[in-house]
Amino acid sequence: MKPSFFDLTYDELKLLLTEKGLSPFGATQMFDWVYRKWVHNPQEWSNVSKAAREFFTENYDFSLLKVVWNGLSKDGTRKFLVKMNDGQTVETVAIPARERLTLCVSSQVGCAVGCTFCHTATQGLKRHLKASEVVGQYLTIQKWLHENVSMDEKLTNIVYMGQGEPLHNYENMKKATLIFMAERGLALGQRRITLSTSGLVPAIEKLAIDFPPVNIALSLHSARNDVRTELMPINKVYDLERLFNAIKKIPLKAHRRITYEYLLADGINDTMEDVVALEKLLNPKESKINLIPFNEFPGSKYKRPSEEKIMWFLDQMIKRGFTCTIRTTKGSDILAACGQLKSEFEKLNLWDKDNKPKVIPSIASSVRQNLTP
Ligand code: SAH
Ligand code: SF4
Repeated sequence: MKPSFFDLTYDELKLLLTEKGLSPFGATQMFDWVYRKWVHNPQEWSNVSKAAREFFTENYDFSLLKVVWNGLSKDGTRKFLVKMNDGQTVETVAIPARERLTLCVSSQVGCAVGCTFCHTATQGLKRHLKASEVVGQYLTIQKWLHENVSMDEKLTNIVYMGQGEPLHNYENMKKATLIFMAERGLALGQRRITLSTSGLVPAIEKLAIDFPPVNIALSLHSARNDVRTELMPINKVYDLERLFNAIKKIPLKAHRRITYEYLLADGINDTMEDVVALEKLLNPKESKINLIPFNEFPGSKYKRPSEEKIMWFLDQMIKRGFTCTIRTTKGSDILAACGQLKSEFEKLNLWDKDNKPKVIPSIASSVRQNLTP
């Protein structure tokens, strides 16, 4: 199997060219052909040397992922199931909001973190995605939208909020981010990319030093250690104190204000005690809180609080000076939450022998949005 071209950052490509005795200046033209002109056949790179064209034709793979299923919600949210070379599949969701079209990409097949409210967790970790498979989700869906919807459909933002814990797959996600941001290529600005993490402390400490300065969203879900541990077993190892010591090291100017994601589960983390704990833990000037009403799935052990309870919680946070929003439910008719699509298909045995989903399910869910400023 040839390595994928989409695994190469701009700097790596330059290095590779030098190693092969080719001109490193060709990297600029190649990124331009691949990421701006969408020409993925090296033979057509007319301003690139013949030797380089031959080298990439022979040694590199330019294939994209395969869209094996897609669904369109009434609100415009599109969900895709994409298949990789080894047959594994992940989901990716395109969410329109105002003038933006945000792609929610996956970072792993499954997840090892084991949050007790998350359907992806029940699958365990199958494997990390390669950088090319993360970049591949973007390229594949952008191409699909151009071919199947219109040339005006342009993905403008990316959130790392699909299946998986992006910081568990640190190096590949860093690489993918560098490729997304490369000025000679897709040139997505740092404000257009948001990484969401459950709070892997050593990786956050590393991120503070050497990850491109994208927006950070932290899945907090409780400001009380015992409650957070119940929701997220990772809190046993990296409790709130360790977590916030690491967060303090993130240079805020570069990464700007951190968004705290706060899942609201009925009777678990939505009481006055929780409000008071949050007020104590977070500084309203430096934090933005995004409330996510729990999204139920078959077999889930938590419940979504009532609308009144959700509004009460929001009101309490606003009263205390926080910028606080509620993540709107979108894509409810096409099952758009973390890991659910694939899990549901497996559970209901709706896959045909070619590993293609047979029917479109219809279970309510919510989608991550409101996160990119
Ligand atoms: N692993 C990363 C990113 C992917 S999950 C993380 O945990 O941050 C993206 C967001 O969806 C997280 O904030 C997660 O807590 C939330 N989420 C997971 N399952 C959910 C559910 N059943 N209902 C609502 N939000 C959920
Ligand atoms: Fe993994 Fe995030 Fe789901 Fe937790 S919420 S199990 S970290 S994908």
